[in-house]
Amino acid sequence: MRIGVVGGGINGLCCAWELARRGHAVRLFERDRLMQATSQASSKLLHGGLRYIEKGEFRLVREALHERDAWLRRAPELAHPLRLVVPQYAGGRRGRLTIGLGLWIYDRLAGDSALPGHRHVCGSDLLRRVPGLRRDGLRGGYEFSDAQMDDYRLGLWVAEQARQAGVRIGEGEEVIRCDEDGGAHTAADAYRFDRILNVTGPWAEALLHRSGLTAPVRLDLVRGSHLILERRCEQALLLEVPGEKRIFFVLPWQGHTLVGTTEVRQRLDEAISPSVEEERDLLRAYGHYFPTETPVVVGRFAGVRPLLAGAANPSDASRDSVIHRSGRLITVFGGKWTTAMALARRVAGMVC
Ligand SMILES: Cc1cc2nc3c(=O)[nH]c(=O)nc-3n(C[C@H](O)[C@H](O)[C@H](O)COP(=O)(O)OP(=O)(O)OC[C@H]3O[C@@H](n4cnc5c(N)ncnc54)[C@H](O)[C@@H]3O)c2cc1C
Repeated sequence: MRIGVVGGGINGLCCAWELARRGHAVRLFERDRLMQATSQASSKLLHGGLRYIEKGEFRLVREALHERDAWLRRAPELAHPLRLVVPQYAGGRRGRLTIGLGLWIYDRLAGDSALPGHRHVCGSDLLRRVPGLRRDGLRGGYEFSDAQMDDYRLGLWVAEQARQAGVRIGEGEEVIRCDEDGGAHTAADAYRFDRILNVTGPWAEALLHRSGLTAPVRLDLVRGSHLILERRCEQALLLEVPGEKRIFFVLPWQGHTLVGTTEVRQRLDEAISPSVEEERDLLRAYGHYFPTETPVVVGRFAGVRPLLAGAANPSDASRDSVIHRSGRLITVFGGKWTTAMALARRVAGMVC
């Protein structure tokens, strides 16, 4: 079949690669450069998403853990295992039993993963590892396994695999509208495909509207910002935002510290960049756990999550995806970086 893929983020690239591997003739349209949008503004984690266990999203977590391990095998030079610690403080929203039970389930869902399971860490051990960490109320914590990637380079690696499998990739090619008969229109040309895939992440609904089509699924667009701090980070941490149930990460990143993320509703006509308030909130949360440090911000970036609408609070929105087909047009709503290949396999199944 002749297949057009709109969107050169991780989901579009994985779909294009998977379809080409299955023998289809694939052309990918990216209006800008590959991997310049959401897919390079992530927290750089290949993870099951520990906190989705609280929402009972066991299928999603199991799939994501399986995919995490698959990325580690597929591209070991661009992804590596990461041990994270969840410190537990007096007065925290989650007690020791809750965290321990969550991690026990996480390990079970990881199945026969080669990564080591969780274990308890006592407070003094934790302070030895993270000397500047807040001491007041520290009750110890748990460490567990996930993985970290270079999202941008790993995405370009996928693009290279896709090219080698025969995908024609066009950058700077915006699809202005598409239709249910397999048509895709750019400013210069009109194309006809057996299937056209709308994998434009946060812009999926907007492309349908521009094409005069109704979106069967609503997206909740939620910006997430990160700061890069100058200091080196020796230990990845998953922490509760003080006084909230929301969590944020402190992660090692290219010799620095990555701190994120936030959850702020976003419109597509607004600039995608961290606001002053987000930067203040991230520094406040960081400062709570590292009270003696004066953090120096050396970088910042933001991305927009394409979440399935329906939750009043963005933290509660599902990180799952919906694939909708109408005639020859298939649209992907939502989806995580980690699960992009699993999504691609589902899309490929639907194409045929
Ligand atoms: C702050 C934040 C942190 C995250 N952290 C993680 C994490 O640690 N781990 C994880 O697994 N997931 C994470 N995610 C989720 C993950 O990053 C996204 O779900 C994923 O990157 C979405 O990829 P995508 O390809 O669907 O969208 P995008 O990467 O946004 O790609 C869509 C592409 O479509 C292009 N496009 C749009 N309209 C058109 C058009 N009309 N014609 C042609 N091209 C078009 C855009 O230019 C863009 O390149 C995070 C997300 C955010 C925002």
